[in-house]
Amino acid sequence: MHLTTDGRRVAVVTGGGSGMGRAIVHRLAADGFAVAVMDLDAAAAAKVAVEAREKGGEALDVGGVDVSDRAQVREGVRRVRESLGPVLVLVNNAGITGFREFSAITDEKWDRMMAVNLAGPFYVTQTVLPDMIEAGWGRIVNISSSSAQGGQPFMVHYVTSKAGLIGFTKALALEVAPKDVTVNTIPPGFIDTPMLRESERRGMLGGTVDHHAGLTPVRRPGRPEDVAAACAFLVSDEAGYITGQIIGVNGGRNT
Ligand code: NAP
Repeated sequence: MHLTTDGRRVAVVTGGGSGMGRAIVHRLAADGFAVAVMDLDAAAAAKVAVEAREKGGEALDVGGVDVSDRAQVREGVRRVRESLGPVLVLVNNAGITGFREFSAITDEKWDRMMAVNLAGPFYVTQTVLPDMIEAGWGRIVNISSSSAQGGQPFMVHYVTSKAGLIGFTKALALEVAPKDVTVNTIPPGFIDTPMLRESERRGMLGGTVDHHAGLTPVRRPGRPEDVAAACAFLVSDEAGYITGQIIGVNGGRNT
């Protein structure tokens, strides 16, 4: 299996500049991975890579990459391979949200949602998968959403994209399992990130974060680190017999 010169596996985290992605970068770097931080926001990706290195990890700032653009993905992955080596771990975390009455979802909004949340993971996965197949070992984690398990009004485009990602996970898992590549999905629910706070600010949650925390069985919002912990397990050697699975991180909101 190809490792970096100091014996690390290379991991790519999309949307690594904020929220859950940032926590996943920090956790994987602390666990000894060489982590490539990919994000639309180049400055945010650079900042997170610096933070991870300051904590003693190995992290590469890939620069700005829009996962919905295949050419940008190809170039981003080329930079990762050139600097760190073949990619053995991928976390498809980048995503956008949206709240809109069904009848008001425009073609543009629909297309953008599918482009980022569904075509994005398709492009990035298709680009890095050959490295994993060649190594005979790989780990892919797709960050979907608990809203795809339970449904959510005013989010038909978002929920559809995330439900698609769950199907993507299950189908690809079966295809690559004989190559020792696992593919799983974490559908988070109610995690305290800039995305959740922006939704609160825009009045899209139907109440404050604190109000919803009180209705959550564990009585708190999730932390980005809660998702990062599940992700760290799924990309470990120990998780090799777990594939095609939906591992919820939602404080008991969905069971
Ligand atoms: P976040 O704080 O908004 O972080 C998402 C990151 O992805 C941002 O840095 C964003 O960059 C980046 N991004 C957006 N579009 C991109 C693109 N086209 N290419 C590359 N990067 C892009 O959100 P989060 O809450 O951590 O969400 C992470 C994932 O969890 C998302 O897929 C989200 O749908 C999912 N999720 C979140 C929750 C929750 O409760 N927070 C629940 C269920 C699912 P910009 O800031 O420049 O846009």
